[in-house]
Amino acid sequence: MRQVAEVCERNFSRHLEDLKSLVRIPSVSFDGFEPAEVRKSVHAVAALLKKTGLENVQVLEVPGAHPYAYGEWLKAPGKPTLLLYAHHDVQPPGRTELWQSPPFEPTPRLGPGGERLYGRGTADDKAGIIIHTAAISSYLETLGSLPVNIKVVIEGEEETGSAHLAEFLKTYRSMLDADVLVLTDSGNFDCGIPALTIALRGMIGLGVEVRALTKSVHSGMWGGPVPDPAMALTKMLAALVDDEGRIAIPGVREQVRPLGKEEELEMKKLPVNEADFRKQSGMVPGARLLREGPSLLGQLWRFPSLTVNAFEASSKKQAGNIINDAAWAKVTIRLVPDMNAEKVLKQLEDFLKAHVPWGLEIKLTVESCAGPWATNPIGPAFEAAKAAMKAGYGVEPYQIGMGGSIPFVQPFSDALGGAPALLIGVEDPYTNAHGENESLLLSDFKKGCISQVYLFSEIAERWR
Ligand SMILES: [Zn+2]
Repeated sequence: MRQVAEVCERNFSRHLEDLKSLVRIPSVSFDGFEPAEVRKSVHAVAALLKKTGLENVQVLEVPGAHPYAYGEWLKAPGKPTLLLYAHHDVQPPGRTELWQSPPFEPTPRLGPGGERLYGRGTADDKAGIIIHTAAISSYLETLGSLPVNIKVVIEGEEETGSAHLAEFLKTYRSMLDADVLVLTDSGNFDCGIPALTIALRGMIGLGVEVRALTKSVHSGMWGGPVPDPAMALTKMLAALVDDEGRIAIPGVREQVRPLGKEEELEMKKLPVNEADFRKQSGMVPGARLLREGPSLLGQLWRFPSLTVNAFEASSKKQAGNIINDAAWAKVTIRLVPDMNAEKVLKQLEDFLKAHVPWGLEIKLTVESCAGPWATNPIGPAFEAAKAAMKAGYGVEPYQIGMGGSIPFVQPFSDALGGAPALLIGVEDPYTNAHGENESLLLSDFKKGCISQVYLFSEIAERWR
């Protein structure tokens, strides 16, 4: 295995070039962005899978969905089959003027932990694709074969909540049989310290429009008797949380599974430095942490949170003296075990409808609805993952939860009869995924690729 790992390391600059060419394609899957770019991206990924030596490479389509890329290598009879997942779509770049280098021109420079590659999608999640292809090509080039069977699925709409996942599963279920899921879309504990992610928060997202008028009007000529929809929406949103930022919608927090004794002990073991946490998140000096539970990090995956992601009435540029016709906001709630996504969505909808002041019109649009995920990391696949990370990084991995969501995990694991899901990845606390100046620590990227080489052989050895 050492030999394959060495080949992977020797060819690292080539894998890095593959990453850069994917990052140059602005594959933003959000409405209002060019869908042709996501299509260009899927073809680039498919070409890479082919170049890597995978067979039966295809672009998989579901009506209305951004396309997936697929490839396989199934020549290891009697050995387990791994379904390797990553996604090729990215978040919008955000405020381009805040980027220190263009978001879609991958640029190396020094940052936290050493040399980093800056650009949208460098870490989330185009590096996740390359980790798979780097490991596969290292085996095929060195030995001409792999120790396990491989299926690769690269999704095109993870960042928008995988709206067509159920349809995708239904359409392609027969192609996707596997013993273990390997998802490279999460993060390390810190620079140089790997982690196995064993819990994810779920997410529901709701667009809320409150309308008072059929057109915007002069705020002097009409202000007073005519209700202001921006103020109405603000009052509704303010009622969603209490003074400590906790969700105040009746019946929502009651669903949260109480912390177990052992869980609490595990959480307390995680080293947390409040000052680092504040720095990594970029909190302004006077801002207060809104704490819940025994552990600051544990709070991120064992307690729910509510965020107003966007608010639109007029804009800073167009801020005339008007009463806006309508106001709009996007509200998301991150869910933890045992919260039920459909139930929480209904509770949020009912709460907002009941709190619209002054008889204004309300329109709700569901944007996402995915439950939380948690696993008990016991068995050969998890043992293999821990051994592989130790081999690649030279240090023991932590087992952590993640505050984010990957809608793919639960339905796929369910469809595969509860197959173990290994969540690994190369984001770190300085990556700033989804924000401006997203970056990837190159030394960890290399270690992640090498770990993946070890993962294939570790699973093959441990599987009975
Ligand atoms: Zn991602």
